[in-house]
Amino acid sequence: FGRRLHYLRLSITDLCNLRCAYCMPPEGIAKLPHDQVLNLEEMARVARVAVGLGVDKIRLTGGEPLLRRGLARLLAELAAIDPRPDLRLTTNGLLLAEKLPLLLETGVSTVNVSLDSLDPAVYGQVTGLGAEAGAKALDTVWRGIEAALECGEMAVKLNVVLLGGINEAEITDFAKLTMELPLAVRFIEYMPVGRNTPFQPARFLAAEEVLRRVGRMGRLEHLPARPGDGPAQRLRLAGAKGELGVISALSSHFCATCNRLRLSAEGKLVPCLFSELAVDLLPILRRGADDSELAEALLQAARLKPREHDQAPVNAHAAGCFMSRLGG
Ligand code: SAM
Ligand code: SF4
Repeated sequence: FGRRLHYLRLSITDLCNLRCAYCMPPEGIAKLPHDQVLNLEEMARVARVAVGLGVDKIRLTGGEPLLRRGLARLLAELAAIDPRPDLRLTTNGLLLAEKLPLLLETGVSTVNVSLDSLDPAVYGQVTGLGAEAGAKALDTVWRGIEAALECGEMAVKLNVVLLGGINEAEITDFAKLTMELPLAVRFIEYMPVGRNTPFQPARFLAAEEVLRRVGRMGRLEHLPARPGDGPAQRLRLAGAKGELGVISALSSHFCATCNRLRLSAEGKLVPCLFSELAVDLLPILRRGADDSELAEALLQAARLKPREHDQAPVNAHAAGCFMSRLGG
C-alpha cells in the first residue's frame, strides 16, 4: 500500500506499576510466565534484524519499560546497532527521574510521558492509585518531567488520553503548559484496544473537541509534518515555547501513513493495533532460526499489515491484544 515501515515499537515487559482504567483492570492481569517473555538478547536480535531491513526508529514501551530488569544492557545493545537507530521511550514517568542518567548515557532522544491529569485526585482515579498515593505519584512523575526538561538533551512529550467527563476539563490546562515549557502535549483519542478493560463509549472524546477548545485560547498555527513523523497533527499556540498534538486514531484514520510494527512482550509481531493478526517470533527465535529466517518473519508481518482498520467512534468494538503487553 505504499507505506514504508521504519518504526519498531518494542514492548519490553508486561509488568506495570499502575492500573490505568483504560488499560488494566484494578487487580492487574496475570503476569506472563518468565519463559514466555522475550529475553533481552532476543529483543536486541529482533531489533538488529529490523534495522537491517530499514527500521531507523525504535521505541521501548511496555507495560512499564523502566521496570524491566536489564534495561541498561538492552539499551546499550540497541545503541550499538549499526546504523544506530533513533531510540525513544514511552513511560508512565514514575521512575523517570531515577532512570534519567541511564537514558541520557545511552542517547535516548525522546521520552513520552503518559500523564492524563494534572489534578492529583483525577490522576489517582485514572491510575487506580487513589487520592493519597495518586498525589504523591503525580509529584514524582512531575519531578521526572522537570529533570528531563532541565537536562536539555532530550525531547519531552506528554501523552494525554482524552477521557470524556474525567480529564476533559483539563484540556486547556495542558495546553497552557506549552506556553511556558518546551514540551509537546499530545492528546490521544481513547481507543477500544486491548482486552483487559471493556471500552466505554461514553468516555470517548474526539480530538476535534481539543482543537475547538484550544482554538479559543489564542491563534493556533498548524506545524508542517516532518519526515518520519508519527500520526500526530502538530499545532502551536501563538507565542508558545512548546507544541500541541492531536492523535485521532478513531475519528479520522491515519492508516495510510502508518509506519510501524509492534513487538509484544511475548514476542508477537503485530502489524496493526486493531487487528488480531500477528507473527509469533518466539518459536522462530528459540528453534535457532538464522537471521534470514527472522528477517523473512518480519517481512511476513509487514505483508499482513491491513490497509486500514475498521474502527470508528460509532462502531468501536474491542480489538487487538493485551495493551499492557503490546505497548500502545
Ligand atoms: N506504561 C507506559 C505508559 O503508560 O506510558 C507504556 C505502555 S502504555 C500501554 C503506552 C500508551 O498507551 C500510554 O500512553 C497509554 O496512555 C496508551 N493507552 C493504553 N490504553 C489505551 C487506550 N485504551 N486508548 C488510548 N491509549 C491507550
Ligand atoms: Fe497505565 Fe501504561 Fe501501565 Fe497501561 S501500561 S496501566 S497505560 S502505565
